[in-house]
Amino acid sequence: MSAVPADSRPPVRVRFAPSPTGSLHLGNALTAVANRRFADRHSGALVLRIDDTDAARAVTGGEDAILRDLSWLGIRWDEGPVRQSERGELYEAAARRALEVGAARRDADGSVRVGPVTILRADGTATYQLASVVDDLELGITHVIRGSDHRPNLEPQRAIARAVGGELPEVIHHGLLLGADGKKLSKRHGHASVGDLREEGIPAAAVRAYLEELDLPAHDVRLDPARLQRLAIDAIAALPDAELAAAAEAPPQLARALRGARTLVEAREIAARILSPAPVALGDDAAPTLERFAELRAGAGDPLDEASARAIVRELKAVGGDLRALRLALTGAERGPELWTVVAALGREEALRRTAAAR
Ligand code: GLU
Repeated sequence: MSAVPADSRPPVRVRFAPSPTGSLHLGNALTAVANRRFADRHSGALVLRIDDTDAARAVTGGEDAILRDLSWLGIRWDEGPVRQSERGELYEAAARRALEVGAARRDADGSVRVGPVTILRADGTATYQLASVVDDLELGITHVIRGSDHRPNLEPQRAIARAVGGELPEVIHHGLLLGADGKKLSKRHGHASVGDLREEGIPAAAVRAYLEELDLPAHDVRLDPARLQRLAIDAIAALPDAELAAAAEAPPQLARALRGARTLVEAREIAARILSPAPVALGDDAAPTLERFAELRAGAGDPLDEASARAIVRELKAVGGDLRALRLALTGAERGPELWTVVAALGREEALRRTAAAR
């Protein structure tokens, strides 16, 4: 009946163990977020381990891409990166222990196995199965949290742990993230990796929020692009002006014109169109509007505050001005962000220059 007091349990230690194959698959990012959250909830530590025992699968720059993705998503790690390629001696020693106690056997080709599972290749290098188990023991991992694609590894790894004289930590498998069509999420679906999403202009905060929402799925879940898009819109709305402008590679005064963008790529496009518009030549009908605009703009402040920018547009509308022509003169396009935001974004001199040039 003696309950173990909570504080006598060892501190929680989890690990995230990607293979260095390039930008993180979104499913792996889900695993990373789940491990970080688990560590935070239990005041524990997250160890970053790079599973690079399989030289054939390693990609040049693969580890850097992963570190960059984790930083972009704001996923901290407390220890590491621990590289399996630098820990060969530990694995060999463990295999030797297993051989000594008769828990492993050496085959004719020199490879070593526990039951049907190879733990050392004929060339003496450790397989993922051995390296993963030895590291989980050596690094004092208390909980393994990983995708359910690793469920078949559980029993073999438990056997290997015992063979090398340990016990596997508690293992929690979470459901996988599938494509919207229910198939394994892959390049073909688009937005399959963190790098893809970054390039699509989905803010990091939106990706992180999406993965946090999925929590630790008990079953496989399908990627919901509409939800991701919604979170991207929310994340862009929540960005302070300066950050939104910087993300769109635009000067800060453009921020208000970028507010309607659904992705940062779109924000960049809107900014580019405002900063370097296609030249237009408008007919005489546009002259009264452009003249009136020029008068109003010349008489207003620089930079222009929101109220004054809105007042100029309102005044033009009240006198029946051709707002389409003004938009064309200022942006070279028929459509775009709210007109007052464009008026506010351009300095006085630039706005006057563009209206004069359009006539
Ligand atoms: N390196 C493995 C992977 O990327 C992780 C193995 C594990 O979590 O045990 O899927």
